[in-house]
Amino acid sequence: MSTPSEFPCQSESDTFIKLATHFIHNKGARLTQPRKDIISVLATTSSPLSPYDIVTRSPHSPLDAVTVYRTLALLETGGLVHRVRGSAKYIRCHYGCQDAQTPSHSMVECVDCGKVRELPIPPRVDGVVAPVGFRILGHDLLFKGRCYECESP
Ligand SMILES: [Zn+2]
Ligand SMILES: [Zn+2]
Repeated sequence: MSTPSEFPCQSESDTFIKLATHFIHNKGARLTQPRKDIISVLATTSSPLSPYDIVTRSPHSPLDAVTVYRTLALLETGGLVHRVRGSAKYIRCHYGCQDAQTPSHSMVECVDCGKVRELPIPPRVDGVVAPVGFRILGHDLLFKGRCYECESP
């Protein structure tokens, strides 16, 4: 059930692996084999993955769920992965959110197949007016849509 669009281009995957590896080093954490496996599963899939999905797709020795949860939480603090709003699944970042000062990573979900993509929306959105007493810093929205694969008969 894999489609070509499930697999991002090689250079994009390599970039993610480099960014995630540097991030883990900079945090003073060790780049263990389980962590490498988790990063590689995230790098080669752009569909949302639950921690259990990552455990079952690991290319090497079995991963334990606690390691997967902790590694996802670590990568999330660096803006390298994002949790899909309203679900327990994660996708890797496609838009360099690790460099952003505020968390803004809205997504669109296909109503038919459930595929999710991050949207390149800037943190400040024109036309959105903050209620009195608030200043808007970013956004975390889930749009609904239909992907091209599901749209074409
Ligand atoms: Zn992102
Ligand atoms: Zn679809």
